Amino acid sequence: MDLPWDYSTWKPTAGVFEWLGDWKKPSKKGFAKLKLQLAIPARNVRDHPHEPRFRFERGETLYRLGYPELAAGDFEKTLMLIEYGLDFSSELGENVRVLGIQESVKKHELSPEVTQQNVSDLLNNLRKKTYMEYINALYKIRAVPDILTLCKEALKIYPRDPEIRDLLEEGEEAYSEHAAEARPSLAAQGMSLDQYAWGMVATKSYPWTPPALRTRDVETIASANQILDSCSDCLEIRHSSLGSRNGTTQSFGMFAKRDIKKNEKILDSPSATGTSNKPATGQYCYNCAFTLKKNQVFTFTCCPTMKFCSEVCLEIANGNYHKALCGKDFSELYQAASSQTFSESSKARDNLVFLRLIAISLQAGTPPLMTPPIAWLGANYEAQSPIPWSRGANIIGPLRTLQILGVSIFAEDYDIWVLQTMWYVALHTSQENADVKSEKESCPKQL
Ligand SMILES: [Zn+2]
Ligand SMILES: [Zn+2]
Repeated sequence: MDLPWDYSTWKPTAGVFEWLGDWKKPSKKGFAKLKLQLAIPARNVRDHPHEPRFRFERGETLYRLGYPELAAGDFEKTLMLIEYGLDFSSELGENVRVLGIQESVKKHELSPEVTQQNVSDLLNNLRKKTYMEYINALYKIRAVPDILTLCKEALKIYPRDPEIRDLLEEGEEAYSEHAAEARPSLAAQGMSLDQYAWGMVATKSYPWTPPALRTRDVETIASANQILDSCSDCLEIRHSSLGSRNGTTQSFGMFAKRDIKKNEKILDSPSATGTSNKPATGQYCYNCAFTLKKNQVFTFTCCPTMKFCSEVCLEIANGNYHKALCGKDFSELYQAASSQTFSESSKARDNLVFLRLIAISLQAGTPPLMTPPIAWLGANYEAQSPIPWSRGANIIGPLRTLQILGVSIFAEDYDIWVLQTMWYVALHTSQENADVKSEKESCPKQL
């Protein structure tokens, strides 16, 4: 974020759609000021990843720049860091306190008890401010159920706080008003309010994304074609003018290399990105998510719950992600994905796609956005329509997944804009596996 980027590449996600509450787009002058302002906490967050005040400041600036979904991520991490900081027995808490906050109270040479109390007071004040800003940001994404959850969480800590009580009341009003508006169209589609996608965010490329990740060079396309060649004898990726506004061939498309007969299978390959929410039932291949045949199941001795339809799938898993997952317990993610509650299970199923992508990147040892297949797709994810957003699917789920994988969630490589970009890529390119779509309880997904 503190790398060079300019006004022409700035495409805020706020203000694109008429959600709830106003976000005022800064003028060109205001933008220049905010961009400079962002560079300071952005640098500080990189140098001091455990200092909650820097995260909070960066979140505030990102919000003003029109990125409420990124501000939300910073506010979530600020709350987590404060939690660690208030736990005087936690090791990470020491990192939180050792920086600016501890220093500022040390100056006065106070007793350890008073110092501890002052540190707690400072962190508690910051926590309340963070909740308030977090709630405000969520209005710009229309994530009303998350607003209510956050208000209730904050009220447990500050039970009689009038400002938070007011926020809860406003949130409840917004919920009933919007629910009343949404109900008729939901009913027409045979859906309940539980299935309604509240949170929505516009899909925009972040301006500080390194240029190499925003363009696809000859080599990228050649390597994608090489892989395509191994699973299809009739398809190739070429430049295309389709979808381009000025008729140029900046886009890419998939073309037939020869005439294709009716009912001919044009693509025959399991990719590394099929996921099913019930791997332990032994019904679906862990790699391609196709239904397993009873007498034809392949497994690893170290991870017997990962079952595969073929040696090819087993090899793909081993070559791409098994090592990153081996020996780790993801049962909580799978349990959530099998939940009877629609909103919980759909968030968790998306999280399983994220788990696969991040495991591929960890095994490859490359930053997530540089790792195929994310890198191949990353240059092309902007879209006209918004995509669903929720605190569970976009922030808490990915952070929890990273923690289980043993990755530091405060590391720069896993900054929230990186996770959000992965999310855009996954949602714009993922599709349910047609052959098993009818098995509703399974919902396998494949990129
Ligand atoms: Zn398979
Ligand atoms: Zn294993």
